[in-house]
Parts: sequence; C-alpha cells; structure tokens
Amino acid sequence: ADLEHIRNFSIIAHIDHGKSTLSDRVLELTGTVSKRDMQAQLLDTMDIERERGITIKSQAVRVEYVAEDGQSYQLNLIDTPGHVDFTYEVSRSLAACEGAVLVVDATQGVEAQTVANAMMAMNADLEIIPLINKIDLPAADPDRVRAEIEDGLAIPADDAVLASGKTGAGVRDMLEAVVYNIPAPTGNPDAPLRALIFDSYFDAYRGVVALVRIVDGALKKGQRVRMLATGAEALIEEVGARHPVEEPLDVLGTGEVGYVVTGLKDVSQVKVGDTVTLAQGGVDEALPGYREVKPMVFTGLFPIDGDQYEPLKEALEKLSLNDPALVWEPEKSHALGFGFRVGFLGLLHMEVIKERLEREFGLDLLATAPSVEYHVFKTNGETLSLHSPQEMPDPGEIDHVEEPYLKAKILIPPDYVGAVMDLTVARRGTFVTMNYLSPTTVEMLWEIPLSELIMDYFDKLKSSTKGYASLDYEFAGYKPSQLVKLDILLSGKPIDALSFIVHRDKAYDRGRILTEKLKEIIPRQMFEVPIQAAIGGRVLSRQTVKAKRKDVLAKCYGGDISRKRKLLEKQKAGKKRMKSIGNVEVPQEAFMAILKVD
Ligand code: GDP
Ligand code: MG
Repeated sequence: ADLEHIRNFSIIAHIDHGKSTLSDRVLELTGTVSKRDMQAQLLDTMDIERERGITIKSQAVRVEYVAEDGQSYQLNLIDTPGHVDFTYEVSRSLAACEGAVLVVDATQGVEAQTVANAMMAMNADLEIIPLINKIDLPAADPDRVRAEIEDGLAIPADDAVLASGKTGAGVRDMLEAVVYNIPAPTGNPDAPLRALIFDSYFDAYRGVVALVRIVDGALKKGQRVRMLATGAEALIEEVGARHPVEEPLDVLGTGEVGYVVTGLKDVSQVKVGDTVTLAQGGVDEALPGYREVKPMVFTGLFPIDGDQYEPLKEALEKLSLNDPALVWEPEKSHALGFGFRVGFLGLLHMEVIKERLEREFGLDLLATAPSVEYHVFKTNGETLSLHSPQEMPDPGEIDHVEEPYLKAKILIPPDYVGAVMDLTVARRGTFVTMNYLSPTTVEMLWEIPLSELIMDYFDKLKSSTKGYASLDYEFAGYKPSQLVKLDILLSGKPIDALSFIVHRDKAYDRGRILTEKLKEIIPRQMFEVPIQAAIGGRVLSRQTVKAKRKDVLAKCYGGDISRKRKLLEKQKAGKKRMKSIGNVEVPQEAFMAILKVD
C-alpha cells in the first residue's frame, strides 16, 4: 500500500482492561476473521495465555479497513501484554508504530500500568488515542475516567472513544480515530532497505521467523539480507502478513509490518531490536535499538530426572529466541545436582517460562525459591554479583552487601492509604511521596527492596486493599543492607538449595516461620527428620518431622484392591515433584515456602 493508506498502532492498557477483546472486535468488524472462526481473545495463541486469560506475547495482525471516507486502509495492529513483567514487550511493539490506543476500563479507571504504558507511548512520541472501554457495564463511569485521564496522565480526553469490546459499540469510532489521528508512516521507498526486528520466533520447519517494520526500502523473497548487530546473512525464503494466519506476499513495502522467513537455524543470529538491511548495498547505521532488558529475579531450575539436563538446555535456548530477557548459566547444587540458574523479569515471567518448559518440552522441573542479584563487597577488595544465595561468602569475608531497590508506584482509593503504609513499611519500604490523580485515586510512590516485593508482596497488597490496589515498578539502583544468609539443615546437613538471604532483623522470624512450614510440607519418612534454620552455624530454630508410624497401605482395611491401587497412584503422582535430598524426600512446595512470609 502507499504510505498514506497505512496506519501502524498498538493497543496498550493495564491488565484486564480489554485490549485483547477489542482486538477480537477489530478482526470481526473488518471481516479478517469470520464470525464462525471467532473465539475470545483470538490473538492470545499460547495455551497458557488462553487458560490464564492474559496476554504474554505481543501479536501483530494486519487488517484491511474501509473508512468512512470510502478509502481502504491497511491497519497493522499490535496487541500488547499489560502485566508489569512484560513491559519490555510493549516497548518493542511501540517502536514499530506511529500511534497507540490507550484503553481504560470504565469501571476501574486509571491504574498503575495505565500510567506506565501511557508514559512509554509518550516517550516514543506516539499519537495517543484514549479509549474508555466496557461502557456496557452498569458500574461504568466514563466521566470520572475521563477526568482521571486528563488530570492524571495529562492526555486530553474530551474526544476519548467510548467503547465496549463485549458489544462491539464504539469499535468503528476507534478505527476512525486511528485513521484520522495517527500519522501515516514516513520513510523512503527509494532508499536501501532498513527494517526493525521487533519480535522473532523459532519455527521447527522454517527456521527463525522475524516480525519486522520496514522503515525504508522494501523486502522481497529471494533477497540476501544482513542483520547489522549480529552480522548474520540470510536468503529471504518468504515475506508476508498475518491476518492472523500467515499469508505470503510478493513484497513488504516501506511503512509496512509483516513477517520474514529467514531460514536461519541459529536462534542467536536474529536479535530483537536489530536492523535488517541488504547484504549488498545496504546501510551501515542501525536503527535506534530498544531499551536493554535486564533480568531481575533468579531461580535454580533442576530436572527431576538427570537425563533431562541436555533437553532443558536446548529448551532454554529455544525459548530465549523470543525472549531477550531470559538468561541462564549452569548451576550445580549438592542437593539437586546439575541444573541452571535462570534470570527472569519477574515472578509471572518465571512461572510462565517454567510452565512452558514443562508443557511444550515435556520436562519435569524443580524450581528453587527466586532470589535477586546481590552485590557483595569483600574485605579483600573483591566484589561479587550473586545470583544464588549459595554463592554467599562466609560472614567474616564480607565488608558489606548491597541489594536492588525498586521505585514502586501504587494506585489506590484514598481509604487504603493507611493499609498500604503499614504493609509497605513492614516490608522495609521507604515512603517517597503521594498525590491525588483524582478525588478517587491516590498515587503513592515508594522505594522498596526487590527481595521484599517478590515475597508475595503483591498478593498482600491486593488483599489489604480489597483488590483495589494496582502496582507498577522500575529498577531504582543498589543500596547497602544488613543482609545475612540463612541456612536450612535437614537431618543436620545444610541444604544449599534451601538457603536464602534475608535482612538481619528479620532472620529470626523468617527462620522460625520457615521451619514450621517445612515441618508441614515435608512428608513423614521412615525416620525422624530434624529441620533447623541457622546463620553461620548458629541455630535459630528447630522443628522435627516425626517418623512414619506404619505403612500407609496398612490403613486400607481388607483387600480392596482398587482402593489400594488408587492410593498408590496418588502417591506416585505426588512423588513426581519430589526430589530425594540425602535420604529425605523433599517436595517442590518446600522451596516455594521461602517466599511466604506468614
Ligand atoms: P486484556 O488483559 O486488556 O487483554 O483484557 P481482555 O481482553 O483479556 O479482557 C479482560 C476481561 O474483561 C475478559 O474477561 C473480557 O471478557 C472482559 N471484557 C473485555 N472487554 C469488555 C467489555 O467491553 N465489557 C465487558 N463487560 N467485559 C469486557
Ligand atoms: Mg490481552
């Protein structure tokens, strides 16, 4: 299409405000997907997205829209995730667009990721179209939400689109606003090819497929191209657009968004954020890259069956193609054997990757409690970056330790200010400031250690505010803290994979709570299992798992075979997530108990 008839935009919002549902309506209204083939949140293609009802990966789709001016426009729409862990996916998508539709739920108003996403779109110089969604709901209050968008985000909202992804109301208004308010792409069709890779994935049959935005020139099948950052060259096997089914095209022209089959087999050669140009007569200057993403939490992933070490490594390599934030290094644990220390953006990201490894690659994994990256300054002048508590040097060798802090933004109704104060101060948070976005919404800013946030802070925040609070955060730097390593001993032996790092003032309580929890979680064995929490050999608390009294099967009276079999099957299923450490069977929950504070 000619540039004047192309619009590239993202749909952005806080989680659950209705982005994916609105995308469904766009596919329907434009006849891209027939009513018969329609299913809810069609663009959420991963099983895990469909089950959880959340978007994890951005999805680009091209639709043809005949506007009220009678002309036909090519709209490239990118549906984005709303959860804070996937903010980087949003920033990648925005770099391929000239505009964004900012969706705000008419019953919830502006929430923490509404603010974060709006800021990102503004920083990327995008035209923002505010849209107030879910107006079909009785509790919808578009006037209040309009005021919050104007006062809180400084975005004029008089002309905000009123819509319902459920009924389809306002969806045409949204597309008209896209056509009239979002600028057409600029770029030089006669210049040598420059295209931005904003996503990529590995296809077992076709190799690496990249999603690109053509900035200058054009891209055709059969062309030889080069990736500027990696230097990799590829012969383009196919180009096309997604509707959302992939349809091959002769060419991707300037300003267009589409997919490119590179045929490359090595996933590390096609980096998200890199520039594609012609192998011969191409450009040398890369397009501005994306913000570097850094993993924030680290966990040990260990195959339950040692034979799955290599398959786990290959699976991690494959998943990291789509996910520059996923990093890993081999890790050896005395208790768990060989595995990997894997870095993630946050807890949801971690859960999603673990689940995908298990489901898509058939692996059985045991995960240790997530921890953050600590900086240890030793008395001999050395500094260490720790990704795992077990790497912590002896207390005598440590001068001081620093831990990562976050700038956290919490949006709540004014009634809950006190509850958030209590909770966040108890989590070593420092209050920075607060202001009213509207009479019904307060924005509080805090500095809080990341290690406290990953300790079920969000759940606690939700429950202490009746579900009203929303949270967004960004990295704020490292600060010194009084931190110690707490060891857990089973039958007198320290278990490296159960140790964790904790603030000195909290060590005693955390040790006591954890030993009590472990006593409940670790099943009875044939012998007594003492559980101890200790710092540098000094025991803080102790519990004991009593020995099994008799065989469980003995409890089944008579010869009811089917009942016995059921019981055995149940035990077998329960065992799946257990690992023998020494001679004690330890279930997966034991590692996660570290995160539960009370
Ligand atoms: P996303 O996280 O922003 O992509 O939100 P989804 O599109 O997944 O929608 C979140 C939930 O809100 C789902 O249960 C939808 O069915 C529901 N929903 C979305 N749009 C509307 C709407 O306009 N009206 C009503 N009543 N519910 C909606
Ligand atoms: Mg979604």
